[in-house]
Amino acid sequence: MVVGAAVLNDGRLLAARRSAPPDLAGRWELPGGKIEPGETPEHALVRELREELGVEAEPVARIPGEWPLKPPYTLQVWTARLLPGSGDPKPLEDHDELRWLTPDELWDVDWLDQDVPAVMEVVRHAWGT
Ligand code: C5P
Repeated sequence: MVVGAAVLNDGRLLAARRSAPPDLAGRWELPGGKIEPGETPEHALVRELREELGVEAEPVARIPGEWPLKPPYTLQVWTARLLPGSGDPKPLEDHDELRWLTPDELWDVDWLDQDVPAVMEVVRHAWGT
């Protein structure tokens, strides 16, 4: 299982551009990663955001649905918010650029194919459109 974070702040959604592996580099995703043994998805989300972006965040709500990735992985998504004083996210690991997207800008980036339906659900649930 892979957990993705829809980090929302001030009406914007955080998108991260992958720097590796070569077949995914340059494409945009919801930051996140694999759930480790013994970890809950929520803990994995907090850990991944700390490792990849250097921020302290908390999960808010699960976005209904699951999206198949490369077998055997499945993507689940939670909305998340940055904790007060967390600081701005930085692309520390796996990513080389970050963007805060307004609803109007959401499809300006080249999302990973498998993240597209997840992002559409985030929009429906978080932004009610
Ligand atoms: O980030 P990490 O390498 O741990 O992610 C594991 C796998 O999950 C990657 O192969 C990536 O393709 C996939 N993934 C994804 N969409 C995301 C996060 C991860 O497809 N939002």
